[in-house]
Formats: sequence, C-alpha cells, structure tokens
Amino acid sequence: MEAMVLTAPNTPLRWQQRATPRPGDGEVLVSVAACGVCRTDLHVVDGELPDIRYPIIPGHEIVGRIAEIGAGVTAHRIGDRVGIPWLGHTCGVCRYCTGGMENLCDAPRFTGYTRDGGFATHAIADANYAFPLGDVGDDVAIAPLLCAGLIGWRSLVIAGPAERLGIYGFGAAGHIVAQVARWQGRQVYAFTRGGDRAAQDFARSLGAVWAGASEEMPPQPLDAAIIYAPVGGLVPAALKAVRKGGRVVCAGIHMSDIPSFPYGLLWEERQLVSVANLTRQDGADFLKVAQQAGIRTETHAFPLRDANAVLTKLRAGELLGAAVLVP
Ligand SMILES: [Zn+2]
Ligand SMILES: [Zn+2]
Repeated sequence: MEAMVLTAPNTPLRWQQRATPRPGDGEVLVSVAACGVCRTDLHVVDGELPDIRYPIIPGHEIVGRIAEIGAGVTAHRIGDRVGIPWLGHTCGVCRYCTGGMENLCDAPRFTGYTRDGGFATHAIADANYAFPLGDVGDDVAIAPLLCAGLIGWRSLVIAGPAERLGIYGFGAAGHIVAQVARWQGRQVYAFTRGGDRAAQDFARSLGAVWAGASEEMPPQPLDAAIIYAPVGGLVPAALKAVRKGGRVVCAGIHMSDIPSFPYGLLWEERQLVSVANLTRQDGADFLKVAQQAGIRTETHAFPLRDANAVLTKLRAGELLGAAVLVP
C-alpha cells in the first residue's frame, strides 16, 4: 500500500510504500476511494493534540470498499462501501460507553490520530465503527460528511432549537451544517475572516440570510452560535452576538486560548459548551438526515500525493467547501 505518513510533529507528510496490513479479529481492510481533509488533520500535523503515536497516517473521513474481512466480522461483506469516521474504537465498559456517551470514552481510538487513517490506498478499521454507505452517491462528495458533516451535526443538535443560528468559520463543516439548518427551517448567519468575500458569497449561495466578518454583530441577536474556527477570540464575539439564554457551542478539537472577557457576556443565562467527537448513533442519524435534506457538498479533489499542498491551502483558508484526497 501507499500512504502519506507523519513521522514527527511539524514536518511534511512523507510518501511511503508499505506492506498492506491484514485485518485482525473484528477488523476490516478497506481499499480507500476518497478521504476528506479536516482541520483536525492540521492539528495532528502541527502536534497540537496530545499523545500522537508516530509514525501516523492522518485522515478520518474515509470512503472505501471492503477488501478483506477479519475473523468474526458479520456486518460487512467484501466489496461493500463503508465510511470510516474519527471514532475508531471505544472500550464499551467505561461509564461513558455504558451511559450512551461513547464519544467521551475513557479509552478511545481515533482514526488518523491514534490509529492509522485514510491518507493512503488502504486502511484497517474496527468493523463495528465503519458505517455502511450503500451505493448511492459519489465517493468524493460523501467523504466530507464523515467528519465535517457528522461532528457538524452533533454540534447542531447541541445548539438546540435555535431559530437564528450563527456559524463562525464557514468551511467544510459550516457549509454542510448551513444546509441542514436551512432544511430544518432555521435562519443561518455566517461569520468568516474579515474581508473573505468568497466565503461570504458562498454562504449566501447556500441560503445564509446574512454573512459578514467575525467581528461584526449580526443584524439581530442570535439564538445560538457554533464556532468551527479554532480561534479562541471568537468565544467572546459569539457570546456578544447571542441573546439572553442563548448558547455558544465550540465544535473544534483544538482552539487558541480564549481571551478574558467581562462576566456580562455570559450573564443572563447564556451558555458556553463544547462538542467532542461523535457517537455511532450520531453517524446513523446524520447519514439519514444528509440524504433527506439532499446535502450537496462542495468538494475539491486532489491526488493523495498532494496532501501537503492541500494542508497548506486549508491552513491559508484558500479552499471553499471541503478538500478530498483520492489515492
Ligand atoms: Zn469507554
Ligand atoms: Zn475531522
């Protein structure tokens, strides 16, 4: 197999050829058809997440087909198309797993972070954490649903029944969540980097009633806001933009420090919460919703070997929608 491998923090991924791994008990070998590129991949490459085990193959928005099945796997058959998300494994016995919160498992494994991911021609996955995808839809178009869509969905659910919804950072997740929110009958307010007219026009084209810079105040107070950009300064900005009793959801795995802010921004029962990872139920729920809502992802496909250039583009905010690597 071929892979783009991270061997040390803050270094470019290196193209490597390796022996194709065999699936162990309960595992499947997937031939990768497409793998989306997520901001979390940047946090992995930059060494901003704890306990990265090098060398690691990033990538956790994998669409592929089952090439080989390990012992004891009954849920999938050779040739089935599956999606492999960020949540790669959970322990099943901790208080979070048994309490319906497997996203918070004490001993989880995450695809492309603590187990090898999809910036490769092949990947091994725990069969119980691979979503059946059926045959409808394009591999590249589906890939961003597996993290941007899924964690976006979880953050939208946690935002609650907000009619006026702010989205800070209108990238891969934002452009999917905006479509779901509109389909649900909500009003979307999109916040981008100052002067990013392309992203603001893109948000309006997807039905946002308003788009502007993150420092701007929306024309009406928001009921809730979700922050996808990894910028701590957006927390007080979003708290300022939500009404009394409103909620601000931080949806990223990593964020720069949140600057101090006056208590008045939180007062009046405003809530500040974070979203971590996903449960398999989130995946099942969202994949159904994505179909019902007719979500159309804006994707840009690149050859696997261009992974470093794609990460650079993502870092610079040069991509509208989602980037996808194709081996
Ligand atoms: Zn657990
Ligand atoms: Zn992700």
